[in-house]
Parts: sequence; structure tokens; C-alpha cells
Amino acid sequence: MEDCLFCKFAKEHNAKVYDDDLFYIIKDINPQAPLHYLAIPKHHFKYLTEMTSIDTENLGKIFAKISEMSINVLHLDGGYRLVINQGDNAGQTMPHLHIHILGGKEMGWSPA
Ligand code: AMP
Ligand code: ZN
Repeated sequence: MEDCLFCKFAKEHNAKVYDDDLFYIIKDINPQAPLHYLAIPKHHFKYLTEMTSIDTENLGKIFAKISEMSINVLHLDGGYRLVINQGDNAGQTMPHLHIHILGGKEMGWSPA
């Protein structure tokens, strides 16, 4: 999609942590934990409610791949948190669905 940063990154980003046909992973520019990645599907959509059946299938594959890479590639020993912000109340700022992957420390639980 034109003017979407995450669609542009799919084509060109000089520091991808991981990249395949379905999605890529980059480090968040404003990390909220010692390790903060974004897993970004290559197909543009903003909300989970917009997903096609292929998007749904791919999201399952993306979760499986994240878990497979969690230790060896992402160094998330000790556990991690996945977050998908949806809409204004959740503070979604990027109009292209992405999964936050947070870790590297013991985290609290206070989204308020
Ligand atoms: P959200 O608020 O859930 O939509 O998350 C958007 C995330 O994208 C935020 O955590 C931002 O720090 C991150 N972000 C914005 N621009 C960039 C960028 N150029 N490179 C990496 N992460 C970015
Ligand atoms: Zn996009």
C-alpha cells in the first residue's frame, strides 16, 4: 500500500532480523523493553477483523515461526510477551498490523 511505512520496509529495510515470504522482523525504534521486536506480515491490513482466510492461516504460521526462533534468533530466554494493538484505545499508531515481541527482562503487567 502506498504511503505505508511497514509496506515500504517489506521491500527495503537495511537491518531486518528475519525475512521470509510471509513476514519480517525488525527492532522497534522506540523499545519498551530490553528486547523489542516487531513481526510484520507482508500483506497490508490494519485490523484483525479485516483478515482474509489466507491472512488468518499466515498469522498462525507467523506465531509458529516466532516461537521457533524465540531462543536462537531472538534471544528471548526466560520468556516473552506478544502484543497486537488494535485501534485508538490500545494506542495503535501504525496502520499496518504488527506483533510486538517484548522480552529481555521480567515484565510487569500494567497496561493502564
Ligand atoms: P503501535 O503503536 O502498536 O501501532 O506500534 C507501532 C510501533 O512502531 C511503535 O512501537 C513504534 O516505536 C514503532 N515504529 C515506528 N516507526 C518505526 C521505524 N521506523 N522503525 C521501527 N519501529 C518503528
Ligand atoms: Zn502496509
